[in-house]
Amino acid sequence: MKIGLIGLGIMGCPMAKNILKAGYRDLLVSDLNRAKVDEVVAAGAVGASNEEIGRSCDVVMTMLPNSPHVKSVMLGENGVASYMRPGTVFIDMSSINPVASREIAEHLAAKGIRMLDAPVSGGEPKAVDGTLSFMVGGDQDLFDEYKPLLETMGSSVVRCGGIGAGNTTKLANQIIVACNIQALAEALTLAQKAGVDPRLVFEAIKGGLAGSTVMNAKAPMMIDGNDKPGFMIDLHIKDLSNVLDCAHTVGAPVPMTAGVNEILQWLHAQGGGKKDHSAIAQYYESLAGIRIGREDIE
Ligand code: NAD
Repeated sequence: MKIGLIGLGIMGCPMAKNILKAGYRDLLVSDLNRAKVDEVVAAGAVGASNEEIGRSCDVVMTMLPNSPHVKSVMLGENGVASYMRPGTVFIDMSSINPVASREIAEHLAAKGIRMLDAPVSGGEPKAVDGTLSFMVGGDQDLFDEYKPLLETMGSSVVRCGGIGAGNTTKLANQIIVACNIQALAEALTLAQKAGVDPRLVFEAIKGGLAGSTVMNAKAPMMIDGNDKPGFMIDLHIKDLSNVLDCAHTVGAPVPMTAGVNEILQWLHAQGGGKKDHSAIAQYYESLAGIRIGREDIE
């Protein structure tokens, strides 16, 4: 099976290496960033143009920033799809608007190309060690055929429904993560302001009903004032903007998402777009005039 992968950024680069490590040696790759292509070629892939990928691959995969990138790479003028043969397959692993996934799938179906949307959760560390969680949309038979390929990059590969269901699940994930971070920031700010050490609050409640993976990862960062990104504010704005767009299209009001997205916009406007999303705490610190876990601001 000849595989093409377009988009070798923070996620795509280690994912390409894991495909190679699993023994799929016929891998063609492309990216606007030449250095990234060279890095994956050094691991055993072949650098190629998008046209070469479209003409020769049985399955084309993308790991690009957002819907407009995927649409332009696949369906734009001289897009990859214009070179693909009927019977070939497209797997988009980018986190994009599920409405866009369905539009792309419709265009491809008219050319006899089948598609899965397969966004991931887990971030760079899990991309590197091949333990991402895949949320997949598309036909069951196509999912069954390509699950082993996705398993070279992930330890969990779950089909969530028809095309777009993967990205709908990813949006649900991103709502829950953002709102959890906001609740945590609000709660730790209250504790600090009321004179209770937020470290002890975290220690006391992390094993109870309020405890969560988000709390375990983000409370220590808030308390230490560490905003080095795992997941950047600007990427979360992209995902929540897709939530709002999708929600308005399907008629599902999302007031919590709208609220937390405006806090992220505030952080972006302050020049904080590259900070970790746990920097939502800095919005609360600014409102209350404190620093969580540290000295009070006069
Ligand atoms: P990134 O910006 O590091 O990588 C994107 C890559 O796409 C870049 O190398 C860029 O040069 C390339 N690219 C852009 N346009 C292109 C084009 N026209 N042709 C060829 N290459 C092109 O982004 P990332 O962090 O790897 O994220 C990719 C996707 O995965 C996003 O949708 C993101 O939301 C999602 N995601 C990221 C994380 C994370 O922690 N970084 C976690 C889960 C999901």
